Amino acid sequence: MVSLGLEDKVIVVTGGNQGIGAAIVAFLQELEAKVAYTDIKISDSNNGALGIQADVTDLSSMEAAAAEIEEKLGPVYGIVANAGITRDNFFTKLESTDWDAVINVNLKGVANTIKPFLGGMYERSEGSIVGISSISGERGNVGQTNYAATKAGVIGLIKSLAREGARYNVRANAVAPGFIDTEMTKAMPDKVKDKITAEIPMRRFGKPSEIAWAVAFLLSPVASSFITGEVLRVNGAHHT
Ligand code: NDP
Repeated sequence: MVSLGLEDKVIVVTGGNQGIGAAIVAFLQELEAKVAYTDIKISDSNNGALGIQADVTDLSSMEAAAAEIEEKLGPVYGIVANAGITRDNFFTKLESTDWDAVINVNLKGVANTIKPFLGGMYERSEGSIVGISSISGERGNVGQTNYAATKAGVIGLIKSLAREGARYNVRANAVAPGFIDTEMTKAMPDKVKDKITAEIPMRRFGKPSEIAWAVAFLLSPVASSFITGEVLRVNGAHHT
């Protein structure tokens, strides 16, 4: 039988309480990984995955989460840095608090997520890191200077980590979703959503499960063992 080789691998997903993160948690559980997720709020809906309340903007909170995860589940093999927020506005109107909030969660939060686990991964010569970027980080988007800057930053961080981690057999890749049906995009006005849908060659938003498949592929020590420093676009040909 063919397998992605994720059985019993300990994998951490940030922002796993809802949306894309929850879909990744559920799918990794189907693949029989040992899954932990962190979020600001934790619900009981993730079928037995270990949920830990932790704020990605706070390094000490993420260090405490990392210690608890490794104590309860064992050494971490995979990290999915997924937590992210939007605070959209035209740049001329963007408040500096909204700039800082998005940078802190989407960029500093990714660094805070990875840092506590990386030394152990290097020591064990095994690991796969997936950062969730965005179509906006690659092509920019009106009203998203802050968000796009962080998502481009995730790509730079991941590509650098790929180069640093290669000698330790620790891979790092990014997934860049297009527009996906989650709470984040539900907040958009219908008129805007219709306009975007018309621009997408596949004429629809993606599903969270479609991102989960891409993430599982990049985590897999079998399927993607020689892939590192890449950005995998999942966007219905919206940006190629
Ligand atoms: P959601 O808003 O549905 O989920 C994001 C999760 O992250 C929420 O549970 C949220 O908690 C949590 N979160 C927010 N801030 C923090 C924090 N400081 N620490 C820990 N957890 C936090 O978003 P999506 O599922 O849509 O997005 C997931 C990722 O995918 C994000 O990085 C996003 O930028 C990216 N993405 C999404 C796209 C889309 O179209 N949906 C497109 C491209 C990329 P709470 O709700 O309580 O704030």
